[in-house]
Amino acid sequence: MPGTVHLVGAGPGDAGLMTARSLELIARADAILHDRLIPAGALDAARPDAELIYVGKQGGGAAVPQSETIARMVELARAGCTVVRLKGGDPFVFGRGGEEALALAQAGVPFEVVPGVTAGIAGPAYAGIPVTHRDRSSAVALITGHEDPEKPDSALDWAALAVFPGTLVFYMGLATLPRIAERLIAHGRPAEQPAAVIERATLPGQRTVSAPLGEIAACAREAGIGGPALTVIGAVTELREELRWLERRPLFQRSVAVTRAGAQASGLAARLRELGATVIEAPAIRIVPLAGEAPDLARYDLLCLTSANGVRLLFERLAQAGRDARALAGTRVAAIGPGTAHALREHGVIADVVPQRALAESLVEALVELPVERALIARAREGRDVLGEALRARGAEVDELALYETVVEQLAEAVREAARGADYVTFASASAARSFFTALGGEGRSLSGPRLVSIGPITTAALREHGLEPHVEAARHDVDGLVEALLEDSRA
Ligand code: SAH
Repeated sequence: MPGTVHLVGAGPGDAGLMTARSLELIARADAILHDRLIPAGALDAARPDAELIYVGKQGGGAAVPQSETIARMVELARAGCTVVRLKGGDPFVFGRGGEEALALAQAGVPFEVVPGVTAGIAGPAYAGIPVTHRDRSSAVALITGHEDPEKPDSALDWAALAVFPGTLVFYMGLATLPRIAERLIAHGRPAEQPAAVIERATLPGQRTVSAPLGEIAACAREAGIGGPALTVIGAVTELREELRWLERRPLFQRSVAVTRAGAQASGLAARLRELGATVIEAPAIRIVPLAGEAPDLARYDLLCLTSANGVRLLFERLAQAGRDARALAGTRVAAIGPGTAHALREHGVIADVVPQRALAESLVEALVELPVERALIARAREGRDVLGEALRARGAEVDELALYETVVEQLAEAVREAARGADYVTFASASAARSFFTALGGEGRSLSGPRLVSIGPITTAALREHGLEPHVEAARHDVDGLVEALLEDSRA
């Protein structure tokens, strides 16, 4: 039985615009043949043993010959592999997907087409341009600008395009844009018709230049627009003045490095992205769960949780032992701060004690009134022991349960460089700060560009150990507080 080749569209660049079907197939594929213009991280969910084959252009130079790509797909499918052919945007819109499907059909290889969000529609949308609009444009043409308009055998009918009653979207036409505009005007398209060029649509650094058709090529050149870019021509482009939703986001065109551990980082990163920021995920620390038994919580009158990770891993241990939230029924539960309390709520537990500030010292204060005989502190192996010491000093018996440890992740040079060049670097814990500097090669000095945002005093102290003074310290020591402080600083 031959395998199937799935011709899959990966969308215009923003990973959030990949389809559910594309993610499902990427996770399942034995082999993935991909182009250059696919979203960052698009292959993260691929199986570790999947064969990843790059078949795009080598550094803007010669592409892997199409015949070779097709031969490879056929060979893999005949060997019984599930093959994903991943292409930018939609596979059947200027992606040579049609050619590849024909070749597969002729070779008798089963195939499936998974449409993607095409750049020519998504790009304008991210720039605030609806390609159709009831009063302004009832049709849209997707056109390749690759064709040299001077070529006598150009496949494009310029006279027809000039009078096309609707929006024109040109893919790939940056180099030929001056000739495209001239041709259209020569054939009767008004030179004053509004147009826009969108560069890196839906990607970090997206830029849009708008001008009348007669000036658009010069304006794009002056602005230094490079690829990938699209040109939109038609009355709808004016709507951008009102509809440029992305550019109005408070952190648009700001880059922020996030130094929390992987799983935690994604929440913060998602939040910053929604605010329009370009996020550099530099997960300097990684959480490694420690194996162990589920604790017998009935033995304690107080359970202290010092991080959201701790909550997650405690419940994992309980689940492994066939238990659930009821294991906490008879025990008072203290959370170190709002983030940890939130994680508890997700497991159906409302913390009895939550200090305003997420600090061990604050938790100690908050517990002052509470009689405690036997306490269990569930936490990271290398955490501070302020809490345990304070409770012991009050005569309580204290056990500690190490649920995980944090290990330093080596950062790739590209990530380090991006972090050094960022507008902001955020530090959400002292250990993330220390680890980040370790991963940077211990060089605090190289961080002179970005503004540094610390989640609170302990993290600030860790930054100072490295000779750095944060520019911003959050008033509330959780992720919301961190984001709030960064936003406030960006407005200043
Ligand atoms: N199949 C793709 C198009 C492939 S042709 C699709 O459906 O989107 C490649 C051209 O698409 C580029 O030269 C550029 O003109 C356009 N393009 C692709 N991604 C883009 C992006 N993120 N921003 C602007 N243009 C993009």
